[in-house]
Amino acid sequence: MKTNNKLIVITGASSGFGIEMAKEFAKDGYSLLLLARRIEKMEALKLPNTMCRKVDVTHKDEFEAAVREAEAKFGKTDLIVNNAGVMLLGDIATQDAKEWKTMLDVNVMGVMNGMQIVMNDMKLRKTGTIINISSIAGVIPFDNHAAYCASKFGVTGLTKVVRGQMSPFNVRVLSIMPGAVKTELLGHTTDQSIIDGYNDWKESVGAVNITATDVAQTIKYAYELPQAVSLREIMITDTKQDA
Ligand code: NDP
Repeated sequence: MKTNNKLIVITGASSGFGIEMAKEFAKDGYSLLLLARRIEKMEALKLPNTMCRKVDVTHKDEFEAAVREAEAKFGKTDLIVNNAGVMLLGDIATQDAKEWKTMLDVNVMGVMNGMQIVMNDMKLRKTGTIINISSIAGVIPFDNHAAYCASKFGVTGLTKVVRGQMSPFNVRVLSIMPGAVKTELLGHTTDQSIIDGYNDWKESVGAVNITATDVAQTIKYAYELPQAVSLREIMITDTKQDA
């Protein structure tokens, strides 16, 4: 087993991209702090050098407490992946505003919380990497994605601002913009006809082969480039995705 004394914090590590990132980084012996609400899913991985904490990223105090606890054990955060997110697709003309609020709270406020928790130490140490998971829906509009696009365009925008702010301090700030990849994400949408339409589109164009592991390995590649190399924005989709 390789060892690597850098601490990586991954939010939303209980499924999808987050759980695959945890497995990929663990292979190279990084110290990990895994955060999500379903702690049992993260603990079941039984990864070495890993702390798992039940954290809702919208609750900044518990988020920060978990990061400080991990830093006391493993050293300062070298990478945070602000990955936790929800996608509740809906027609803005009829969708319940509670769904908009959930998306904006988790997808935008959660990311901002994560950045603020680590960025001041990174500035002082003049090194570090922040990776925010936006989406192709953070740069391109899609039907029934109004509130989701609002949240992900938000992530794209705030990532660009913070990138400029952190560059004099040698801190990388990247955004990853995945296309459609099978995870649990779509399952939280409450309108079944929208879920069916999304799946029909993916299957009709054949955009079904990219995996969460592919995305996780791409993120790890970007992180492991030299600190002087910033792969600022990565759009990654199934080759057959047509939009
Ligand atoms: P999943 O639904 O599989 O994973 C989402 C993760 O976020 C889960 O671990 C979930 O954990 C966590 N999460 C949700 N809400 C909270 C919260 N309030 N506090 C802490 N953790 C939370 O989806 P993906 O892996 O697909 O999504 C990961 C990211 O990638 C998201 O930001 C998503 O928007 C983005 N994305 C995904 C795409 C896709 O097609 N899959 C495409 C483009 C972007 P728990 O419920 O245990 O808290």
